[in-house]
Amino acid sequence: MTTKTSSLMDFLDEELAQLKKEGRSAKLRVVTGPQAPVSVVDGRKVVNLTSNNYLDLTEHPKLRAAAKDAIDRCGVGTAAVRPIIGTMDLHVELERKLAKFKGTEACLVFQSGFTVNVACCQSLMTSESDLLISDELNHASIIDGARLSKAKRAIYPHRDMAALEKILASPEARSARRKMIVTDGVFSMDGDVAPLPAIVELAEKYGAFVMVDDAHASGVMGPNGRGTPAHFGVSDRVQVQIGTLSKAVGAVGGYVAGEKRLIDYLTSVARPFIFSSSVPPSVAATCSAAVDVMLDEPERIKKLWDNANHLKEGLRKLGFDTGASETPITPVMVGDTFKAQKFSARLFEEGVFALSICYPIVARGKDRLRTIVSAGHSTKDLDLALEKFAKVGRELGLIS
Ligand SMILES: *Cc1c(COP(=O)(O)O)cnc(C)c1O
Repeated sequence: MTTKTSSLMDFLDEELAQLKKEGRSAKLRVVTGPQAPVSVVDGRKVVNLTSNNYLDLTEHPKLRAAAKDAIDRCGVGTAAVRPIIGTMDLHVELERKLAKFKGTEACLVFQSGFTVNVACCQSLMTSESDLLISDELNHASIIDGARLSKAKRAIYPHRDMAALEKILASPEARSARRKMIVTDGVFSMDGDVAPLPAIVELAEKYGAFVMVDDAHASGVMGPNGRGTPAHFGVSDRVQVQIGTLSKAVGAVGGYVAGEKRLIDYLTSVARPFIFSSSVPPSVAATCSAAVDVMLDEPERIKKLWDNANHLKEGLRKLGFDTGASETPITPVMVGDTFKAQKFSARLFEEGVFALSICYPIVARGKDRLRTIVSAGHSTKDLDLALEKFAKVGRELGLIS
């Protein structure tokens, strides 16, 4: 018995030591008060360039009121999975609103973006004769979903359309029963955008269908934040449109929008939907209110993009390498794990929170800080951040 216990403890000690050595052990920062453009993090007031609160909705009065009203009318939890008795009118109303927003026949809400990606990969790719084709930089939830699916997998280099076509033209793809191309709409580490027009073109040429994960594009890209398919005008050529309710929308959850038969099928078979309880009524009501706000207050998206451009231009002028970003996610490339961590730590001391993102989340040598602006930042907030980036960047010899 002692051997068994100690073998676990030895394993944990060794792993933790290794993680620490590689600078990969997690330290949780604690926010006091709201998730806001300027937040109190670990007791320090900082310009927050780290959250996904793109539209500054986490504290919006209409969302707060919707949540409180739902709690008063419907209580705090559903106490069931959706297919048993965990579907409230508030979930159905949210799904109707989201479908209308996305311009699709139907929509299904899940507990998170993570679970909806896992569910779709697993439920749509069901046999070894299926082929799941994925961009190498897709989100972890797509990678895990692909692992849970029974399909064969093919990975193409990031945004490389020639490589994608080569896979689609291969004998393996030609003999596949079903082929799904899956991509993030906006890539979460680099802030670049999937070439959807080329992807749908290739999909149609080779008889594949397309799934787009718009976690970082929901509320950010396209008219009123409808996402990357709407941005490129290819919504009716993307069969599986994934969105999150956890980022710009300001609450938590995920959804898939598409044809009614897609939604009917997933309602019956998607394992996270069937075996994990639904989001509380307050969350469903919050998200419904968020969709209304996205339609009623388009100036938030304009402010978000103005802020993104201001910060990006400022960083570039200072001499930083901001990579391939085309969105409000702007990386500041550093190239070394410990230097990136030091950069983040020093900025934090100076009152600016920008997360360091290091191997293995990104490739070796691609260690960076990641900045994400919000519509709620003032120009003063962003100029303060730029001043501190300049100061600490010079300290660390990243810029001259
Ligand atoms: C954040 C993220 C998810 C997961 O969304 P949650 O709602 O937080 O579970 C999925 N895909 C991408 C690309 C993401 O960035």
